[in-house]
Amino acid sequence: MNNPHLDIPVRAPAQTGVDDTILPFEVSALDLRGRIVRLGPAVDAILSGHDYPLPIAKLLGEAVVLTVMLGSALKFEGRFILQTQSDGPVRMLVVDFTSPGKVRACARFDAERVAAAIAAGEDKPGQLLGRGHLAMTIDQGPDMNRYQGLVPLEGKDLEQAAHEYFLRSEQIPTRVRLAVAEEFRGGENGGARRRWRAGGILLQFLPKSPERARQADLDPGDAPPGTEVSVAAEDDAWVEGRSLVETVDDIELIDPALSSERLAYRLFHERGVRVFRPADVQAQCSCSRRSVENMLQSFPQEDRDDMVEDGKITVTCEFCSSIYVFEPAEIAPGDSAVS
Ligand SMILES: [Zn+2]
Repeated sequence: MNNPHLDIPVRAPAQTGVDDTILPFEVSALDLRGRIVRLGPAVDAILSGHDYPLPIAKLLGEAVVLTVMLGSALKFEGRFILQTQSDGPVRMLVVDFTSPGKVRACARFDAERVAAAIAAGEDKPGQLLGRGHLAMTIDQGPDMNRYQGLVPLEGKDLEQAAHEYFLRSEQIPTRVRLAVAEEFRGGENGGARRRWRAGGILLQFLPKSPERARQADLDPGDAPPGTEVSVAAEDDAWVEGRSLVETVDDIELIDPALSSERLAYRLFHERGVRVFRPADVQAQCSCSRRSVENMLQSFPQEDRDDMVEDGKITVTCEFCSSIYVFEPAEIAPGDSAVS
């Protein structure tokens, strides 16, 4: 261990958490880096805006936390899009993060199958998603290549899918914990108002020598008995780090009375943890009348004609439920240059 940062004054971490923030941290003694995400009003705005059945809201909330954790690591201006496509009752989740901190999200699902899954008690995240894939796309603008990473979903939840993605695609030992819950608060006139809260922690092992990042192989699954399984010994520093993150309870990730700094301190104080300047997150859609108009203009005339109802074309944004109404003549071809 070198450079113990002796010149940095030690202070007690703040007791009260600040919602809608991303707190990066580093445990240099163990070569660990990570982020803690804490969402209050941002995730509540997204989830209450949609009014999805509870297990879907919770699942989408987890996807929002994961996307914010991964998207906020981008070192450049751009978008990070997490999207699932699968054969379960929830056909698709889309979460779209635009740097430095705007997020929006929506889900597509089969309402009857979701109701049946809930009635049968088969509404765990992995059961709702079913089989398919999780795609993570980085979009740095029209002049840059889009980068896409894919990981299969086979009844797995989002934490497991994220671990598999980092193991296979990035070869960075990673642990992720995600939590979403509703907080009940007494409102005026005795009515209780539900509020969504969410949080997560991501931990990665980034040693200077790559050999130390070797991980134990995945479970060999249905390999025939007697198959020799190659097991790389995990580095002690990583075993210590991931074991600590695996002890984190859901409540620690969402408790408004426990700040992200305090959680980092609680987990890693024995090794020394350094936190960096937190970044803000907000729920904000990027749709506009202009972008919807451009999209409609890209459709064939025939499709646009099919969209006309009562003499108007109405488009509802799937992310934020904003409604845009157009006269068919407004989006006739050749009008695109008019601003
Ligand atoms: Zn929108």
